[in-house]
Formats: sequence, C-alpha cells, structure tokens
Amino acid sequence: MKTIARGMTRPPARRRDPPRAVREDGVACLVCARFFKQLTNTHLRLHGLSTSEYNRQLGYNLGRPLMGVPLRHLYS
Ligand SMILES: [Zn+2]
Repeated sequence: MKTIARGMTRPPARRRDPPRAVREDGVACLVCARFFKQLTNTHLRLHGLSTSEYNRQLGYNLGRPLMGVPLRHLYS
C-alpha cells in the first residue's frame, strides 16, 4: 500500500466517528492504513504524531469530533 501521506502528513479532521481501526488481532494505523499488532509511538512518530496526538486527532479519547483543536498541538 502506498503512502497516503505524501503532501498530506495528517488526516483531515473528521466529523464522523473515528473508523473502527482497533480489532482483536491488532490495530490499523489510520494515517498510512497499515495494520499492526500494536500501534507504537515509534511508528506514529514517522507521521509526526505522538500517541496522544494521534488519539486526539482521531477523537478516540475524546469521543467527539476534533473541531476546535488548535493545530499547533500537532507541532509541539
Ligand atoms: Zn502509519
């Protein structure tokens, strides 16, 4: 699978519910759509994200859309 991230390092903020990326046998990276047994910090760093930033972007921990999250969170 080719890298989606060329010229677009971050997924767009979604208004919908985050995709079901977590399965019994692992978890998909929603940035590059690869599937892993475990989504590691190391991998997310390839996308310029920390785990918390990733979760925040996808709305996992918040349970609500990302609207209003300042973009500069992504760079800190
Ligand atoms: Zn990835």
